[in-house]
Amino acid sequence: MGFLGPRLVAASLSLLIGLGLIAAEESRYAPLPLRLEILKPWEKARGRPPPGEIVAGIYERDWRRSDFQNKVAITIDDSLPNRYLAQALDILGRRGIKAVFFIIGSNFVDAEGKPMPRAKELLDRIVAEGHLIGSHSYWHRRMDEEPYRDRPGAIAAELDRNEALVDKILGYHYPILYFRPPNGAHSTPRYELDRALLKRGQYLADWTITSFDWNMRLKPGNPERLGPSKVIARTVKQAREESGGVVLLHCFPDTLAILERLLDALAGARNAKGVLEFSTLDEIMRLKYSP
Ligand SMILES: [Zn+2]
Repeated sequence: MGFLGPRLVAASLSLLIGLGLIAAEESRYAPLPLRLEILKPWEKARGRPPPGEIVAGIYERDWRRSDFQNKVAITIDDSLPNRYLAQALDILGRRGIKAVFFIIGSNFVDAEGKPMPRAKELLDRIVAEGHLIGSHSYWHRRMDEEPYRDRPGAIAAELDRNEALVDKILGYHYPILYFRPPNGAHSTPRYELDRALLKRGQYLADWTITSFDWNMRLKPGNPERLGPSKVIARTVKQAREESGGVVLLHCFPDTLAILERLLDALAGARNAKGVLEFSTLDEIMRLKYSP
């Protein structure tokens, strides 16, 4: 596996760069990146990424090989700068839950590319209230298909665009740590996405618990449509059976309508190990990569 050598060198370099970044940003973001803390023991223990994984992060299958110790991290995708995002922040704030909001840049600008009226207010709230902003690409297109697949650099350019927009809206540089690919599609044939993340010192952040909240939006009569109770029951069942993990939710009106019930159900759920408890994506990463 000689080809892993340069990648590990690149990873080490980005870790050093990351350390500088952390120091520079420390005053503004107290609890941010854990790169070294997480990855050093991981590199020591494994020497290289597990099979099928070329960049550190969370993958859907992780629940099978990691013990997340009943800790549950909430992640929220596809927000728009609107009242639903505000409502998600209100609900999480009341419960003291810290989430990662995976932001799609094109959702935060108007047709002329200008930030939407509430874009700054809501991104500011995400940061001020102790959540993390993650990147979910600028256009929300699958990155293992055209127009990305055979165009080296297209993915990196889009990641740059998304991050630049977040910085522009906030008015300062925000160091993004986690990237969630649209549709969770991370392994392009030439691994362009993984390579781009590795170079940036960013982690891929898919989920391990699928809420299927998007199925509430399907038309009545569609056999795949799920009602609120089913969505809650399935999510809690999976979280219990898999001893925690990373929950995928969306900032859709249907999801916001059940968010409090869902969080209550998760918080009270128990399995042989005890009761599930809310944690953060950073903590899930630490649990996965601790030797
Ligand atoms: Zn999405």
